[in-house]
Amino acid sequence: MTAQLLDGKSLARTIQGEIAVEVAEFIENNTTVPCLATVLVGADPASEVYVRNKRQACERVGMESRHHELSPETTEAELLELVRKLNRDAGVHGILVQLPLPKQITETRILNAVNPAKDVDCFHPENVGLLVQGRPRFLPCTPHGVQQLLLRNGIDTAGKHVVVVGRSDIVGKPLANMLVQKGAGADATVTVCHSRTRDLAAVTRTADILVAAIGRPRFITADMVRPGAVVVDVGINRTAQGLCGDVDFAAVAEVASHITPVPGGVGPLTITMLLKNTLTACREQATT
Ligand code: NAP
Repeated sequence: MTAQLLDGKSLARTIQGEIAVEVAEFIENNTTVPCLATVLVGADPASEVYVRNKRQACERVGMESRHHELSPETTEAELLELVRKLNRDAGVHGILVQLPLPKQITETRILNAVNPAKDVDCFHPENVGLLVQGRPRFLPCTPHGVQQLLLRNGIDTAGKHVVVVGRSDIVGKPLANMLVQKGAGADATVTVCHSRTRDLAAVTRTADILVAAIGRPRFITADMVRPGAVVVDVGINRTAQGLCGDVDFAAVAEVASHITPVPGGVGPLTITMLLKNTLTACREQATT
């Protein structure tokens, strides 16, 4: 392998150490413990793991987490009622409703009901609007993780061509929005690709930095990558051989200058940025 590994796991440990210091200072000065409420509807095994990891991370940095587990038959009205209760609860500073939700519930109705001041996933239209305008209240967790991974590994995005494959509201779109803003970790020229993009490989080969957020195992092959490009793999795919990303890691690592592993790349940073947002939310609520 010739590419340098972008180690998200060790960076997450470092940033969580920094957050733990900030949390301890905050608690000392405010006698308030930042608290994240997690809501899990149903028993999707992957979601259960994600929520458990988020709660354990809260504990590691000295924050509180309160978990709400609802049955798969929960109605939209029942979930809305819980969200409204958490909105009113002054002891809860961040609310995380784990996605996906069961079919009978419209996700946007739930996400729109979360108090924007507690919307630590940054899904509420008010927070997305602020992000697009370049004056974010919160930064969305996975895109923020990608940005920190680049910044803290000394990979400058200014003036670079970043190609993002995937246009979801969770990863592709917010990441593109963040990278075109002015300032450190941004100032990039961004192209967003998706399933209707014509000659995808021709576009990805023009990338200085290529981000894959597709949800298809090993979709990005070596011939789609310009030699020396930085490759960030957001994908998490469960296959018969175990977890893998959206990038054909072994082959692409021979072409790229830097590459993220899966697991141990973007994933741990996503959780870390959720902790950061919960602390931000708590600070904001303490001063209002
Ligand atoms: P998503 O909502 O399913 O979006 C996938 C995107 O990929 C869509 O925009 C889709 O295009 C595009 N796409 C699909 N097939 C394509 C193709 N053949 N050529 C070009 N584009 C194609 O997925 P997501 O929520 O963004 O997640 C993407 C991956 O990241 C998943 O593996 C997910 O598990 C992972 N993920 C990881 C983290 C983390 O913390 N590491 C966080 C979130 C997600 P269309 O819009 O045209 O359909």
